[in-house]
Amino acid sequence: MIGDEDEIVPQGIDVTTPHIARIYDYWLGGKDNYAADRAAAERVMAATPTIKPGVTANRAFLSRVVRFMAGEGVTQFLDIGTGIPTADNTHLVAQAVNPASRVVYVDNDPIVLNHARALLAGVTAPTAFIDADIRDTDRILEEAAGLLDFDRPVGLLLIAILHCVPDDDDPRGIVRTLMDALAPGSFLAVTHPGIDQLPEQMSAAEKTLTKAMGYRVTFRTRDGVGGFFAGLDLLPPGVVPVQDWRPDPDTPPSAITGMWGAAGRKP
Ligand code: SAH
Repeated sequence: MIGDEDEIVPQGIDVTTPHIARIYDYWLGGKDNYAADRAAAERVMAATPTIKPGVTANRAFLSRVVRFMAGEGVTQFLDIGTGIPTADNTHLVAQAVNPASRVVYVDNDPIVLNHARALLAGVTAPTAFIDADIRDTDRILEEAAGLLDFDRPVGLLLIAILHCVPDDDDPRGIVRTLMDALAPGSFLAVTHPGIDQLPEQMSAAEKTLTKAMGYRVTFRTRDGVGGFFAGLDLLPPGVVPVQDWRPDPDTPPSAITGMWGAAGRKP
């Protein structure tokens, strides 16, 4: 087993194969990662120095877009590709605006599941976690309906997850199926590594990640990301580098990131 001598490995977790949730956690400065994850993360960082500011800006986008949706009166969120908990998890941001906000988290990584169980055990507000693959839209929708009222608007968050779904698995169809189930006035937010931002660095990151994890990640173009909003009203400023999406007025501009971000509303 690859791992530091003093590291405690949770039961049932394969730490020998790098996982995207733990690689991402390492880039964010978290502690929930193992030697194989760190080695893969460092290889990507060596080729793509923007990756760290990229994930930090991505996480900041998540907070801003949840605050935006909550400000528009959305009180229900479906956050697919939750990730390992950090400071500003979706339920904390949403419930800071409206304490009655309901959040359903979905992820397919066992370590994310472990953390979510521990985290949500102490949460009194209506929050749930579904252990599912984003491709399993039927199950996600069925189980989410236990907490969310699909007759009222929902904010669907697909933040740094769609690159884990290759074109062959029809990511646009997945997004369409999910949005079709939601009421008019619902919102979609997407962030996505862009192959046309910093092309050399991002294509190196795409290759390194794919090789390290043993499954394909697909970075997409700005138009490719825009395609996820078919049938929705894409909100200004459109598909932009994540740090440029409705930045907080007092935040200094962050470095170029390689990540696209956008939000849209279901008419
Ligand atoms: N949304 C968070 C975390 C992004 S990391 C953020 O932006 O901060 C990507 C997350 O998506 C990881 O937790 C990973 O486990 C999850 N993920 C990857 N592929 C998935 C799939 N096919 N189905 C469900 N979750 C997936």
